[in-house]
Parts: sequence; structure tokens; C-alpha cells
Amino acid sequence: MSLLPLVAITGASSGIGAAAAQAFSAAGYPLLLLARRASRMQALGLPNTVIAEADVTDGDMVRSAITRAESLYGPVDLLINNAGVMPLAPVHEQPMSDIKLMFDVNCVGLVSTAKIVLPSMRERRHGTIMNIGSIAGRKLYDNHTVYCATKFAVHALTEGLRAENADHGVRVILVAPGQVETELLSLTRSPEIVSDYLSYRESIGGGLQPSDVADAMLHAYQLPQNVCLREIVMTPTSQGD
Ligand code: NDP
Repeated sequence: MSLLPLVAITGASSGIGAAAAQAFSAAGYPLLLLARRASRMQALGLPNTVIAEADVTDGDMVRSAITRAESLYGPVDLLINNAGVMPLAPVHEQPMSDIKLMFDVNCVGLVSTAKIVLPSMRERRHGTIMNIGSIAGRKLYDNHTVYCATKFAVHALTEGLRAENADHGVRVILVAPGQVETELLSLTRSPEIVSDYLSYRESIGGGLQPSDVADAMLHAYQLPQNVCLREIVMTPTSQGD
């Protein structure tokens, strides 16, 4: 069994979360992987890993998964709050169900998962929370109004959580990527919006690979606990906006 501390990753069934699972596992960390598609997490085939079929909007499911993993590997020392959804549309055409889903998953799920691990981290005066924001948490893009609002909120939550927990030895880090090649666009219904998004990505020669983001996360986490790399904003070099 690994002697390294437990890393919990939400949204670990695809994209950036799955790449983070692979990177942290390769570095020897035991993992708790949370998402709704358990088969995709199982297919990663990683050792010392607890797989939990859990929706981040259901705090009870997340809490019981964390309890199960901690009984095997000790307290969560790193939480990667990565689960997210992005059904893009202009607000006047966007169903309220999509608007609520984005706030529920991208913001409420993130805070509620942080609240589960924070008491133990504060007590131990050790731990790291990494929230996945976005370049869309810095600026507005066409058809991204609500998605941007959720990511601006992630940035505010990260700042606030950092301030609240700094003197308890807990690091809170923002990871804000630009274009990354993942499944994030899959909930966007409009073929025109999908096509515009993909055309832009093609025009800049493609997005980052999820492993690029995962490598940066691993670097930030492996810095000494007294060093907080507060924000990682990373895009393809060719992404100008
Ligand atoms: P993916 O769509 O590939 O991954 C999203 C992950 O979130 C999946 O594992 C999905 O798992 C999980 N997820 C969605 N809803 C829930 C839920 N209710 N409960 C638990 N898990 C959930 O996209 P990315 O890898 O790109 O997205 C990861 C994060 O990166 C998101 O927060 C996204 O906003 C952010 N991001 C992405 C960028 C990009 O260009 N790709 C740029 C900037 C930020 P499942 O469906 O199995 O539950």
C-alpha cells in the first residue's frame, strides 16, 4: 500500500480529471475518484484507487465515498474540485434546467465537497484544495454567460477559501485553463455554437492536452506545504483571448 497521502478527484471519468488521476497515480498517490460514470473510472485501471459512482450535487454520496476511502488510505490531503458542465447558449435560449445544473455542479458541488474535507485539514493544519476555474472565470465569451458566471464564482470562492484557511495551514489553489481537448462541449445542444467553438479551437492549432493541466497540478501540489502556488492560468500559446 502507498505511503503517500490520499488524493480525491471529482469528475475523474474523463478529460482533465481522468488525466489528473493518471498523473497522481503514476506519482504513487492513492486515489479517490468520483463521478457518475464508474465504468470510465474503472477503465483507467489504476492501483490503490477507490472508485465512487457519485454525483457532486449529492453531499451524502460524496461524504460516504470520502469516509470509505479515508478508512483505507487516511485523510484526504488533496481535493481536486474538477467536476464541471458547460451547456453553452445565449441566456434567452437557455433552459433553466441547464442554468441550474451549471450552478449546482460547478459551484454548489465544489463548495459542498470542500466543506466535507476542510474540518480535518484545518485540524491537521495540512491539506490542499485545488479548484478548477477557467479562463472563462476571467473574461466573457459569446454564449458563455452563465458558464462564465459559474467560473467567476469559482474564482471568488477560491480567493475566499484561501483567506479563511491560510492561517490553518491549508492551501487553496486555482487552476484556470483555456482551451483543453476534452468532452466538455458534449452538453451544448446548438450545432452552430459547437461548430463555432471547434472552429476557433482548430484556428489556434488545437487545445492543450488534459495531461498538460494534470502535470501543472502535480507540480503545484508537490511544492512544499508552506509554498502556495495560488493560481495557475494556462492556455495554448496560440490562444490569444
Ligand atoms: P469533461 O466533460 O471531459 O469532464 C467533466 C467531468 O465532470 C466528467 O468526469 C464528468 O463525469 C464530471 N461531472 C459532470 N457532472 C458531474 C456531477 N454532477 N457529479 C460528478 N461529476 C460530474 O470536461 P473537462 O475535463 O474539460 O472538465 C473538467 C473541468 O475543467 C470542468 O470544471 C471544466 O469547467 C474545466 N475547464 C475545462 C476547460 C476545457 O477547455 N476543456 C477549460 C477550462 C476549464 P460524469 O459525467 O461521469 O459524472
